[in-house]
Amino acid sequence: MQRIGNYIGGEIVPPVNGQWMDNVDPAVGRPYALTPASDSADVDRAVAAAEAAYPAWSATSVEERAAVLMRLREAIDRRKDQLAMAECIDGGKPITRARDHEIPRVLSNFRYFAAAIQHNHSELYPGANNTLNMILRRPRGVVGLISPWNLPLYLLTWKVAPAIATGNTCVAKPSEVTPMTAHLFAEICREAELPAGVVNIVHGRGAEAGAALINHESIRTVSFTGGTATGRAIASAVAPGFKKLSLELGGKNPTIIFDDAPGAALQASVMAAFANTGQICLCGSRILVQQTIYESFVKSFVQEAEKLRVGDPLDGATQIGSLVSHDQLQKSIRYAALAREEGGRILLGGERFRPAAERCRDGFFFSPTVVVGLDSKARTCQEEIFGPIVTIAPFRDLDHAIALANDTGYGLSASVWTQNIDKAHRVAGAVDCGTVWINCWLVRDLRVPFGGTKQSGLGREGGDEALRFFTEPKNVCLRVN
Ligand code: NDP
Repeated sequence: MQRIGNYIGGEIVPPVNGQWMDNVDPAVGRPYALTPASDSADVDRAVAAAEAAYPAWSATSVEERAAVLMRLREAIDRRKDQLAMAECIDGGKPITRARDHEIPRVLSNFRYFAAAIQHNHSELYPGANNTLNMILRRPRGVVGLISPWNLPLYLLTWKVAPAIATGNTCVAKPSEVTPMTAHLFAEICREAELPAGVVNIVHGRGAEAGAALINHESIRTVSFTGGTATGRAIASAVAPGFKKLSLELGGKNPTIIFDDAPGAALQASVMAAFANTGQICLCGSRILVQQTIYESFVKSFVQEAEKLRVGDPLDGATQIGSLVSHDQLQKSIRYAALAREEGGRILLGGERFRPAAERCRDGFFFSPTVVVGLDSKARTCQEEIFGPIVTIAPFRDLDHAIALANDTGYGLSASVWTQNIDKAHRVAGAVDCGTVWINCWLVRDLRVPFGGTKQSGLGREGGDEALRFFTEPKNVCLRVN
């Protein structure tokens, strides 16, 4: 069975402790590779390699770093089909999704930050008494990057690209559930002749390798994307060390559909609910529909969701693949049961799905599931499920829609559908979250700030926000006479 390696100091190496974990293909339900079960010994080596690389890398010019990022982009482009296939097998996601959305975004991450650092500017404030305040932005050193399994290489490189573009070196800990594209990325870094130690990747469990990384005393900066409970644990672990922290956490995002919504709202809300098997932090897992069209919308929504082609991720016609793991399958099964206990009516799905493809009979598939009749306070409407389960509820008017949209501990995103721009704008202003889409969903421009409010996180990344996060501003005040 293939063994994935850690990437430390430019070499692909086995874990120090010689321990490995199964890497499972969730669409077939069986292991197909072995991942290092690394611990603090590997993290120590990776941090030492990153520290050794830091003086030279942080001293390179912007032009040199941009050229290296573009070399990485080209090397990724040469391997894009292999990466898409690896993402599909590792995460159970449809090959079309990996090929047409996620890997192209990986390419964009490098292209964008290679360009961004070349067009960046610094501030200068002329002051009283012939003083000039110059704001210098220095890299922060060795940064720790922790990413989840739902968009593995997309989110890993969303952190690596700005981190190294701004002159930091890094140690990344990808999710143990989907390590394969991070492993291929290590090979790509070697092919692109990235200087040794600039990027280091340590695979392993969050509680071991992840915890060792965030607690390492040389790691002063942590960028984390993952679940809210893990984010809370990381925030309390790093707080005493005054580390700089960015947390991109979970969501329970409303899709708000007014009775004058454009026709595209139906298809878009189906995809917002079920894309990537509901495993996108930005999924619209709570649909709120104006009472006047509620009954007809629910009927049409169920009809559309029923048409979704669930099945073998390798099949180009598949729209919904498997869940990423047995744990995620069990979670969806538990929440479907909870929805029933809480008085919800399941209009579609609600159970494990057995695809027609023989090889996928034991895979971790769950049917797209539609639940109605729940109170907004029900746990099914409040907690992030991260599976193909959506709730639909009616609202009376604009104020009621806003109240329901805000009736959750999360604040990542919302999507509003109406042809009345005044109404859309009022809702956008009143919903407490980091991103509001009006008559669209999941449009992600790399220049915009990204992050959440409340339990959806702390801080912003993306565009200039990422460049600021990965640098330390210093004010130098010069007096000229
Ligand atoms: P987890 O929080 O379980 O894990 C995220 C990462 O943290 C993994 O690499 C994990 O390792 C690691 N980790 C776990 N425990 C620790 C620890 N104590 N110290 C350091 N690292 C640790 O999230 P999932 O991987 O389950 O991803 C799904 C979650 O991510 C969802 O809640 C989703 O909403 C959120 N997410 C948020 C996004 C956003 O931008 N707001 C985008 C995408 C996802 P391991 O996998 O080995 O346990």
